[in-house]
Amino acid sequence: MSAHPSQAPFNDRVKAALANVTLQRALEKFKTNFMVLRANAVRDLPEFEEIRSHARAMKDHTLAHIDLYIEAYEKKVVESGGHVHYAPDAAAARELVLEICRRHGARTVTKGKSMASEEIALGAYLQANGIEAIETDLGEYIIQLRGETPSHIVAPSIHVTKDQVAEDFLRVHQSFPPERDLTEPRSLLAEARLVLREKFLAADVGITGANCLIAETGSSLIVTNEGNGDLTQTLPRVHIVIASFEKIVPTLNDAMQIVRLLPRSANGQDTTVYTSISTGPRQQGDPDGPQEYHVVLLDNGRSGMLATDFREALRCIRCGACMNHCPVYQAIGGHAYEAVYPGPIGAVMTPLIAGLESSRDLPNASTFCGRCESVCPMQIPLPKLMRHWRTEEFSRHLTPVRQRWGIKLWAAVARQPLLYRLATVLAIRLGGLFGRKGRFQRLPLAASWSDWRDFPAPEGDTFQSRWARRQSGTKP
Ligand code: SF4
Repeated sequence: MSAHPSQAPFNDRVKAALANVTLQRALEKFKTNFMVLRANAVRDLPEFEEIRSHARAMKDHTLAHIDLYIEAYEKKVVESGGHVHYAPDAAAARELVLEICRRHGARTVTKGKSMASEEIALGAYLQANGIEAIETDLGEYIIQLRGETPSHIVAPSIHVTKDQVAEDFLRVHQSFPPERDLTEPRSLLAEARLVLREKFLAADVGITGANCLIAETGSSLIVTNEGNGDLTQTLPRVHIVIASFEKIVPTLNDAMQIVRLLPRSANGQDTTVYTSISTGPRQQGDPDGPQEYHVVLLDNGRSGMLATDFREALRCIRCGACMNHCPVYQAIGGHAYEAVYPGPIGAVMTPLIAGLESSRDLPNASTFCGRCESVCPMQIPLPKLMRHWRTEEFSRHLTPVRQRWGIKLWAAVARQPLLYRLATVLAIRLGGLFGRKGRFQRLPLAASWSDWRDFPAPEGDTFQSRWARRQSGTKP
């Protein structure tokens, strides 16, 4: 699997992913683990739907008054001794973080898991500017060693096997005895812990994301399972939070609604092992905490979404449920999308971040089965938003010529009832004639679809003819 953007056409990336045996084995986890675990967690919380509706309404309200909530949030951060910086785009956010690091003479930076920092490629930027940036979430650490990007927003190294991790550790952790046994997950974990502990202690700056920014208190909230977020935000002299503005929620109680939804939707956990809240720098009498606390509020195209239908996507809490349940994601994994956010939410967000021209395939990489919307805890109408992009793609003439003519031809036929009826009768007759044993193994003009599944041959008559006969009382 490609670790970096390959620039290969999307179809080629898909074919490579489907042919990758290791990846296919790893992707089995979605069907057997995440989907079942989420379903069990939802079943065990009778008020799940109620919390979901409340969270949706709360987010809609916050986004409708986001200017007021940003103001209120900043006021509280400043009152607690912190600083808020506004970054209109990725470049501005990277510069802001680098400037803070340089001001403190930082040589080593530890990073908690943060999709916002992935979105602005912060780690690579700091490294390019002479600052060692260490990922401390185990999954992120593994892919950093491999020079890869996350393939999932919650489980970034889901595509990597245990044996591959052992190989990477043997290659990179040169100070450990080469003959050590790394066959057990426990030994891999112990070794990563030893390596990362040194980094935590050496770090000058800690960078985390935020699952929520709380306007009522000026706090940032993160949920983790490894405790790395706490060490990242409390041990170094400086803590920088990087998060997009839609992470703001009005109150601590609202943040708790998100905390109840997120882990259940992500991997079926009732709650993550750690739920940590930071409010400003260390105060007098505090046993630990940073001396400086900064928040970089990222826009990166989001304010342009507020007045459009895409505003609904800003409710996203990055739980990953939509990709866990997406048949396309389950088949090809995250890297084939070549986007920071893969799966259904990525198909909606990537054109907004990177432009539709370079990502037009992604909204088309969907069966529109609707599973993503049905499991999304924030009730984001993902298929509707992908359809918006498809319409936009067509009206901006980005659709390939053959496909455009195909759609035009179809539109012309579908608008003429007589022509439509004739076309369907012809298709049904020919289909019945050429489909072997009731199935097509290869569909003419749609081979890439039928290469992976059989298509049932039509059984007799069109729906309209049957309906007409039924209405006239004739036996079908
Ligand atoms: S779109 Fe919904 S399901 Fe997908 S990551 Fe966001 S909140 Fe989760």
